[in-house]
Amino acid sequence: MYTDCVIGKEYFYEVIEKIAGLIEEKRDYLTELDAAIGDADHGFNMSIGFREVLKKMPEWKDKDIKGFFRSVGMTLLGKVGGASGPLYGSFFMKFGEPGSGKNEVTFQELFEMFKQAVQAVEQRGKAAVGEKTMVDALRPALNAFEQAVEQNLQPKQVMEAFVDAARQGANSTIEMIAKKGRAMRLGERSKGHLDPGATSATMILEVFLECFPY
Ligand SMILES: [Mg+2]
Repeated sequence: MYTDCVIGKEYFYEVIEKIAGLIEEKRDYLTELDAAIGDADHGFNMSIGFREVLKKMPEWKDKDIKGFFRSVGMTLLGKVGGASGPLYGSFFMKFGEPGSGKNEVTFQELFEMFKQAVQAVEQRGKAAVGEKTMVDALRPALNAFEQAVEQNLQPKQVMEAFVDAARQGANSTIEMIAKKGRAMRLGERSKGHLDPGATSATMILEVFLECFPY
C-alpha cells in the first residue's frame, strides 16, 4: 500500500519556507491569543525562530532529510523563546529521524516522521490531550492519520483527515481549563480562549497538506 507515494526533500523545503511565511503573517494573531491566557509572546517568538530558519536554509540544501530537520529543530531550539522553543525544536528534530541518509521518503515513512515528532512533544511537554496545549491538536491529528491509513484512504485524503482532526482538536481547547504552562495559573479563567500552541501547531500541519504533492 502507498508504494507509489514517494515524497522528495523539495517538499520538505517548501513546507518549511511556507511555514516561515505563514508564521510571519499570523504573528500578531498568535501573540493576541497568547496575550489572553499567557504572556503575549508566542507569535513574536515563533517569528524570530522561523526568520532565522529561513535565513539559514540555503546552507542546508545538501543535507539529507534528517540533517535538514535537525538544523531546523536546533535553530528553533536556540531562537524561539518560552516553552515553544524546546517543543518545536524537539518536534522537528525527531520529525527528520526516519529520513536518515535519505532524500525522499515513502508515505509510510512520512507517518513515522509525524509519529516520532508528536511523541517527542508529548514527552518533552509531559502533556496529554485535554490540557490545553499543542498536544490537543497534534495527538488527534496523528491518530486520524493512522486511522485513515488503516482505511486505505488515498494519501491526499489521509492528509486532509490529519489536518481536520488538528483543527477540531485546536478548537476543542477553547472549552478547556489549562493544565500546563502559564495559562494554568488562570484556572477557570483560561476557559473561553483558543490555545496559542494548538493554533500554531494546526497552522503548521495545514502547510504539510497545502504543499502535499499528491
Ligand atoms: Mg508565551
